[in-house]
Amino acid sequence: MATDLQIAVPKVSSVNPATGELLRELVCAGELEVSAAVARAHAAQRAWSEIALQKRVAVLHDFQSMLQQKKSQICEAITSETGKPVTEALTTEVLVVLDSARFLIENAYRLLRDESVPHGNIVTKLKSGRLLHEPYGVVGIISPWNYPFAIPATETLAALVAGNAVVLKPSEFTSLTALELESLLRNAGLPEDVFQVVVGGGATGAALVHSQIDKLVFTGSVATGKRIAGAAAERLLPAVLELGGKDPMLVLDDADVDVASSAAVWGAFMNAGQTCLSVERCYVHRSLYNSFLKACVEKTRALHVGSGLDPVTDVGPMIHERQLRIVESHVEDASARGARVLAGGSRLQQLGANFYAPTVLADVTHEMRIMREETFGPVLPVMAFDTDEQAVNLANDSEYGLAASIWTRNQQRGERLARYVQAGAIMVNDVVSCYGISEAPHGGVKSSGLGRAHGRFGLEEMVRLKYVDTDRMPGMKKVWWYGYGASFARQMEGFVDFQFARSLAERLRGALRAAGVVLRKRL
Ligand code: NAD
Repeated sequence: MATDLQIAVPKVSSVNPATGELLRELVCAGELEVSAAVARAHAAQRAWSEIALQKRVAVLHDFQSMLQQKKSQICEAITSETGKPVTEALTTEVLVVLDSARFLIENAYRLLRDESVPHGNIVTKLKSGRLLHEPYGVVGIISPWNYPFAIPATETLAALVAGNAVVLKPSEFTSLTALELESLLRNAGLPEDVFQVVVGGGATGAALVHSQIDKLVFTGSVATGKRIAGAAAERLLPAVLELGGKDPMLVLDDADVDVASSAAVWGAFMNAGQTCLSVERCYVHRSLYNSFLKACVEKTRALHVGSGLDPVTDVGPMIHERQLRIVESHVEDASARGARVLAGGSRLQQLGANFYAPTVLADVTHEMRIMREETFGPVLPVMAFDTDEQAVNLANDSEYGLAASIWTRNQQRGERLARYVQAGAIMVNDVVSCYGISEAPHGGVKSSGLGRAHGRFGLEEMVRLKYVDTDRMPGMKKVWWYGYGASFARQMEGFVDFQFARSLAERLRGALRAAGVVLRKRL
């Protein structure tokens, strides 16, 4: 019987944030589609993990060449969905992925090959140990919209080279960029179903967390991360959580004001401040405070805000209205509590709905939301300090701990202070760029997350360690097996003394008491 009832199919819309133009609508994957994708990934993974590592590396090589050739197309896709300047799409996304592939191509064999585990204790000398790095199976990746290519691609390449299959749930705002990644990998010769994209919002992500994946790599906000950690804990699903940040920048009294102010402006406004490693709090020594602020304001006013597709643009739009409202509310709260707005401080309606002026705030305090909550927008809040100790205390007075930067002409002083700042990465005299160093681990402490991406430690997140121990005397019963008794207890006490007593005499007495343990009768 015909019916008027129409079941609404959940969809996600990919929209250009600079213009509001609808780029494409895509149907969300539901629970059934997600579990079917994960089942297909499991079926494909075995063969993928069994081919020689060199062949997996060859796929990465082909992917790298293809990405280098198609860089303009990929950058345009990224800019269309996020609004960021094409130049940033190239330098902070495509370049990062190309170099991450380079790192894995150069190092995967060394880092994934079996390792021997030499034994130090005399009792275990007759055994040989080996460490195997086995793929988990299917790795689920859930990623955000702010780096829609670099984040999922770098994690995917590490997972794939280690022999895993991957099911990626990209942000609902940047599905098309994820589909570009899928197409690149397919054209690079990756077998079918070894990498799949499931499109959708939070519900699709939740379905992936509850599916039969073997490991989860999540990047996103602390709130979602905590929800996911709870769901993962229920089934002891191992999870890497790359969460939010509120990165401090410490400008010490011997810093170069011109260089540090340029860094602050770039670190706060690149990607319209929507970077987990953005400079979100800036602390400047009181002796430099006014000159630093003056330089920041001048440099901020010189920035060109507009469409990311325009090559002269420095700062593009924000991703959507919800994010913009957070920024607005933080700036309003700060001004109401006494912060001075030295530049920006409002929307740029004439450019489009999602544009917010790069903003410099002075005289902020830790009572203001702008210094406590992640703003994730183009705002540079600046505060003065008097001593290095005070600067470190201010930096550590945060629930977050992703990264931080210290600015000084004295490298040793910077490195010494770095030991006291609570964060996953500290940069001395640079900001943000540690994410682009393929050898460096990326990840936070405190609420900024668990586990690491990138480099050796990122690759190690993609493998299970298996220890294989082989006894070289298969015909010999072990001395510690049954057949206990008073004399065995004495012998073993002697053996403990022989190994661990501090005085030589006691050790020798122990050795004499232990003699004969090898010959004793065992069950
Ligand atoms: P978000 O937490 O809103 O979403 C992240 C992803 O999780 C999206 O794909 C979303 O669809 C999915 N999701 C939402 N609810 C879910 C659920 N219940 N179960 C499973 N998946 C779910 O974050 P966002 O707005 O996309 O990204 C911005 C945040 O990400 C910021 O806090 C930023 O600092 C953080 N981030 C962190 C890093 C890092 O490396 N530490 C990098 C980039 C962004």
